[in-house]
Amino acid sequence: MSDGTIVWLRRDLRLSDQPALRFAIERGGPVIPVYIESFKEEGRWAPGGAHRWWLHESLGSLASDLEGVGSRLVIRRGEALAQLRALVKETGADAVVWCRRYEPLVIERDKAVKSSLCEEGVTVETFNGSLLFEPWTVMNQQEKPYQVYSPFSRNALDQDEPERPLSRPRKLESPESWPESLGIDDLGLLPEVKWYQRMAEVWEPGEKGARKRLKAFVGERSVDYKSERDRPDLEGTSRLSPYLHHGELSPRQAWHAVLDGLPEGSSRRDVMKYLKELLWREFGYHLLYHFPQTPERPLREKYASFPWRDAPQDLRAWQKGQTGYPIVDAGMRQLWATGWMHNRVRMIVASVLVKQLLITWEEGAAWFWDTLVDGDLANNTLGWQWAGGCGADAAPYFRVFNPVLQGEKFDPEGAYTRLWVPELKEVPQKWLFKPWEAPKEVLEQAGVQLGQTYPEPIVDPKAGRERALEAFEVVKG
Ligand code: FAD
Repeated sequence: MSDGTIVWLRRDLRLSDQPALRFAIERGGPVIPVYIESFKEEGRWAPGGAHRWWLHESLGSLASDLEGVGSRLVIRRGEALAQLRALVKETGADAVVWCRRYEPLVIERDKAVKSSLCEEGVTVETFNGSLLFEPWTVMNQQEKPYQVYSPFSRNALDQDEPERPLSRPRKLESPESWPESLGIDDLGLLPEVKWYQRMAEVWEPGEKGARKRLKAFVGERSVDYKSERDRPDLEGTSRLSPYLHHGELSPRQAWHAVLDGLPEGSSRRDVMKYLKELLWREFGYHLLYHFPQTPERPLREKYASFPWRDAPQDLRAWQKGQTGYPIVDAGMRQLWATGWMHNRVRMIVASVLVKQLLITWEEGAAWFWDTLVDGDLANNTLGWQWAGGCGADAAPYFRVFNPVLQGEKFDPEGAYTRLWVPELKEVPQKWLFKPWEAPKEVLEQAGVQLGQTYPEPIVDPKAGRERALEAFEVVKG
């Protein structure tokens, strides 16, 4: 029987399929679940505003789940090593366990924590709690990391099926007395201005919310995914990204739930598109782990000297959903209101920022970081470097999304755009994505005055495209 195990919870805020928690239970003795707010140690990539709101809610949900199994969540703030040391002393625990994270600064910090605790005679064990395949287990024939998604995913799919998720514990043994804990409110994760109200209507952070979303997705929706996933006007995707990011759901749970829930008459092939999206997430982690400089520097180094424009007014218009491109404005407003944006629209808004406006992908990544509830260093970097043409598997420089055609194709009835840009609600479909080309009477009838009730396009799409192609000549080839 052990003297007790501290389970340091981080991006694995759940009780089921929780390998660190399982290890602690199997050791025997008291289990002390701990969350430490140590944002300072994450530097520039400490959680952004929307992420903090989610975390506040998620910790509340986790604390109440822990109470349900006879335990508690101990909350601390400060340097992780100092807090863990203090907890070891206060509780008499002889082990500290956690699930691994893969952000460069966190890896460095965790290594230092592990070696200090080990030197002090504390047992330390770490686990994989957030990936299907750890970044060093999927390597090419030369034992080098992949930089292209397709061979990466082929290799991953050739490996053994990800292990089945671990069950949820029924009861956790408590220590004789609980160490002191802050309250969740003491962490000050919520902003003073309550801009998060709409997010609270849309999302239910926590493990229970994750289970509900997963349950709603498995079965028919997971099969329809391949045909509906590009349509922002439909509930065609799983919307599980924030749960996966915060670890309220593990990718193994999503993977197996989708396979176990295949509707009658369908096969693994029917949900392969979805499984492969989970592998895109894995690919993001693979790249971040092997190329830790990429959140700040392009993977393709020649892009470091790209002639980006310094255009703060254009950037502001993009952030606020006031570009005059309806599909872009819809996406940016969805992001601001709900902390999430559909993947197709993320691609469109990113392409417009980077190519039509020639503003660096880093500005886009920073805005997403602050506003996304699923803001994830691995996947945000992957997405933005893809859009900027400077990352792995990146969109080629000459691929400049046309925001008019993209809107017409992926929001074919305009429902998504009309929802988020209500000032264009009455504009007929034919002109919805290019109101500047609509006849005067049409706009009048729809109650739109360009430049007043809705902006003129920030740049003419054709002129923007030409400017982008010219600028990208610099890095061509
Ligand atoms: P689904 O379509 O249901 O996919 C299932 C899961 O697979 C997702 O939950 C996600 O974990 C993963 N996934 C799906 N598409 C991708 C992708 N293209 N890249 C990596 N993983 C993927 N995703 C984040 O989780 N965090 C981010 O910060 C983030 N930033 C992005 C920035 C840009 C510019 C772009 C183009 C994409 C970004 N993505 C990010 C990827 C993707 O847009 C989201 O994961 C997806 O929209 C989440 O919605 P969903 O859960 O309904 O996805």
